Amino acid sequence: MRILLLEDEEKTVAFLAKGLREGGFKVNAARDGETGLRLACAAKFDLLIVDVMLPKIDGWEVVADLRRRGIRTPILFLTARDSVRDRVKGLELGADDYLVKPFAFSELLARVRSLLRRAPHRQTERLRIDDLEIDMRRHKAIRSGVPLNLTPKEFLLLTHLVRSAGEVVSRAEIAEHVWDIGFKTNTNVVDVVVRRLRAKVDDPFKTKLVHTIRSVGYVLKAR
Ligand code: CA
Repeated sequence: MRILLLEDEEKTVAFLAKGLREGGFKVNAARDGETGLRLACAAKFDLLIVDVMLPKIDGWEVVADLRRRGIRTPILFLTARDSVRDRVKGLELGADDYLVKPFAFSELLARVRSLLRRAPHRQTERLRIDDLEIDMRRHKAIRSGVPLNLTPKEFLLLTHLVRSAGEVVSRAEIAEHVWDIGFKTNTNVVDVVVRRLRAKVDDPFKTKLVHTIRSVGYVLKAR
């Protein structure tokens, strides 16, 4: 389970990230709304924890923007004061729950688990990174408005790379994910599929998205 934390207070980030990691979650953090929004659009998270008062773009605007894009990841809001107006606004904009600061970590963890139980398999319908867009429902990938003619395996691979955007994905992980079997013996097959994918996703475009990390694997990022 992956959680994205949007919070600018270093102490809170450290405290929450540590606790959540100990609770078995993978945690990414963004210190401002703009970065948080970009990460939330680019990769798949199971839950977002969003502080209302954030630099650049505030938490309300982040939530409203994500919902407008059709991203349905559950969102837990953190508000600094228990004002009815703030709570209602957050929930109206599309947050799923809220927590008033200061709170006990045990309460946050309980809310997180409850939200994840309520939405165990809610899937992001659209994934975006740079000018690449993936429509999960229609199984279509589009770049700069141009539909990419991908095979099912290429689509699966691209989706996996986009969901792990910014992180290096090993050949073994790709093999397991795309073929659903743990064949670690011949990962050359992975390179072949990656090459075919690149021919469609990157070759016709100026900005390259799929990057090779020598002797490790691949990473998808805009720059
Ligand atoms: Ca804040």
